[in-house]
Amino acid sequence: MKKTVPLVVGNWKLNPVTMSDASDLAQATARKHRKTSDAYVAIAPPATYLAEAGKKICKSTVSLAAQDVSVNNMGAHTGEVSIMQLRDLGVEFVIIGHSERRAAGETNEEVQKKTLIALKHRLVPIVCIGERERDDQGNFFTFIEKQLRSLGKVLTSAQIKKAVIAYEPIWAIGTGDTATADDVKEMQLFIESVLTKIYDRPTAKSVRLLYGGSVKPGNAAILHTEGGMKGFLVGGASLKVDDFAAIVKAVS
Ligand code: PEP
Repeated sequence: MKKTVPLVVGNWKLNPVTMSDASDLAQATARKHRKTSDAYVAIAPPATYLAEAGKKICKSTVSLAAQDVSVNNMGAHTGEVSIMQLRDLGVEFVIIGHSERRAAGETNEEVQKKTLIALKHRLVPIVCIGERERDDQGNFFTFIEKQLRSLGKVLTSAQIKKAVIAYEPIWAIGTGDTATADDVKEMQLFIESVLTKIYDRPTAKSVRLLYGGSVKPGNAAILHTEGGMKGFLVGGASLKVDDFAAIVKAVS
């Protein structure tokens, strides 16, 4: 993937309810992205729909992403989905450490393990970080730094360059309360400064950063042009084909 080309990933979360609707959504999304545009596009349906979505997008430029992965590769781990199973389905990206997974108990240690597993099996990990709330003293920066340093403990420079970091402030996810372009720009510079301390400047500059949190057609262009990140992780708007296409267009 060329680092200069933006990436837009649609996280369907636990939607839709039926295979038939998932199939239609994947097909409609694929139709909107038949030809190569100036952006990479991926969709992350629930694991139960990955195979069907994979069939629907195969003639388009849309890639497949998973919403999570097990830390285990096979064996007695009821209810989990392994990286090898994802690979076998043609999945190229895996979202790791989404705030909704962290709220369900996922730890930084599990995020470390999952990121390493994804990289080992040549999937691109999209590691989510983000603060629950903002405070006037700027303590949220310390929180973000801690999440980045946790990754820095286990990933080499070569590995972090292959990962994607999605900055998703929890207060902006699904709330309609988007970060401003200035907030996003400030965070881009902050993340790069932390990565520079952990690694070095060239490494920091080559890690792809995404913004996520109530991205919509109406705010995508300004967040992209002034926010300074290299794409978006989109939740709710990825379930609306036209909205998702408009967001992709805004970064293209
Ligand atoms: C998300 O779930 O990662 C997300 C950013 O959701 P939304 O776009 O709905 O805020």
